[in-house]
Amino acid sequence: MPSIDPIMGATAVAVALILLWMYFDARARDAYPTLWVAALALCALFIHVFLVLLGLVIYLIVRPKGAMAHCPSCGAKHLVWLAECPKCESRLLKDCHRCHAAMPVTAERCPECGTPT
Ligand SMILES: [Zn+2]
Ligand SMILES: [Zn+2]
Repeated sequence: MPSIDPIMGATAVAVALILLWMYFDARARDAYPTLWVAALALCALFIHVFLVLLGLVIYLIVRPKGAMAHCPSCGAKHLVWLAECPKCESRLLKDCHRCHAAMPVTAERCPECGTPT
């Protein structure tokens, strides 16, 4: 059996956890999860594993920010202002038929004009 360097092993696990977390966080924010994870995984494999930490810092700075909510259909986390669930693609916002303001599909009244939906 080939021996595995424990430091290399621990680094690989840490990188995998960071990329996994980043994938789900980016998906919840509709911020190119596959692109981010693929780019950082390639950098880690072919250039230096340190680039994953650098990428994580950059990601935390540039990612879309805002309050998170749970999809009423599948329960996945998403940014409140997304129009569609990033996981199940069900609609998350609807338009008020009177003033056309966007509101969550679960809202009973328009937050802008108070019209019942
Ligand atoms: Zn969903
Ligand atoms: Zn309205």
